[in-house]
Amino acid sequence: MDIFTHNNTEKPLFGPSGHSESFAAEGHASTMEMPEWLSTRGLDLFEYSFGRGVNISSKTASQIGEKCVQFGIEMSVHAPYFINFASPEEQKAENSVGYIMSSLKILKAFGGKRCVFHAGAQGGAAREEAFARTKAKFAETLELISTHPEYSNLIICPETMGKQAQIGTIDEVIELCNMGDNVYPCVDFGHVNSLYGGILKTAGDFENIIKRLFDGVGEKKTRNMHVHFSKIQFGAKGEIRHLTFADNIYGPEFEPFAEIIVKYGLAPHILSESAGTQAEDSAFMKKVWQNLANQH
Ligand SMILES: [Zn+2]
Repeated sequence: MDIFTHNNTEKPLFGPSGHSESFAAEGHASTMEMPEWLSTRGLDLFEYSFGRGVNISSKTASQIGEKCVQFGIEMSVHAPYFINFASPEEQKAENSVGYIMSSLKILKAFGGKRCVFHAGAQGGAAREEAFARTKAKFAETLELISTHPEYSNLIICPETMGKQAQIGTIDEVIELCNMGDNVYPCVDFGHVNSLYGGILKTAGDFENIIKRLFDGVGEKKTRNMHVHFSKIQFGAKGEIRHLTFADNIYGPEFEPFAEIIVKYGLAPHILSESAGTQAEDSAFMKKVWQNLANQH
């Protein structure tokens, strides 16, 4: 199908990753209150990060899930940062499989569909060796997931990473995505921009990445990909820290990507990981996209 003549009615969706400062400032503390809070801001998504471990009960997760249904918010989860499928230590690699499985259990309880993860770190090994280990362990994980029919509608999203030492270039993510129908790319444009010293400036720069994805993983996975979009400070080795949209030094800017979303009719899930202003920056992105879409 010609990507310019699609009849897809799906739209991009927007939301924050984690609690923004304004959520707390307005007197909220519990994620239970998040779906309603986001819906009053016209947002669509919420990403729950397990960060240092999966420490929420299925019961609490399903209660949050009920709120999501009530207020029209879709949840995704970010698996723990400890995952390292490239680890030469068998126990660490094995634990990584466990982190994905426990993330999926809670994702299911939330009623969400997408689990994002960082594949691993290169460590002292050669890149090819570390990536070969990553693929072998990820293949085992996918095999294990396939034995759970209740997870058959869930999507696993390897993320593009911002530091040279991490597994997760665009090509590596494309390769991981081709290991299963349920594996979709999570493109973190702030990471891509950081890894390559600020390459994302024009709409054409974003278009190049989208074209590589169309070629590499096909139309369906590209159109429905997962996106993290934040401005990120970088140095010689890549990512240093997450900023807010108030930054005007490092980028990337959202506007040129919005042009490509509209041009190709993409319907990604776009999460803001800004440092404290995730909800505000998500709302800004949604407005930028909406204004552009209305002109077409
Ligand atoms: Zn991430």
